[in-house]
Amino acid sequence: MKPCVECGKSFAPWRYDQKFCSPACRERFKKRKQRLRRQGEGLCPQCGKPLIERPFRKTHDKARQRITYCRECRNKFAERHKALVESR
Ligand SMILES: [Zn+2]
Ligand SMILES: [Zn+2]
Repeated sequence: MKPCVECGKSFAPWRYDQKFCSPACRERFKKRKQRLRRQGEGLCPQCGKPLIERPFRKTHDKARQRITYCRECRNKFAERHKALVESR
């Protein structure tokens, strides 16, 4: 038994180099890696398009330093949020 790299659950690997308990965990890990890479490259972590604005605004408050998405993705998030609020 060894712990899954993604969720930490113990599992019995059926391959010697297996790191994840399930394909779902492997996918999640890959997606997170991809987002981090995009962030580091100054791309939108959601869709990978280049950001027009600078990815990080300089701020003294670390908690306010958020991931910045491209305009399209931000609009999508805003719409989803609005729909959630209105459906209440
Ligand atoms: Zn797992
Ligand atoms: Zn985007």
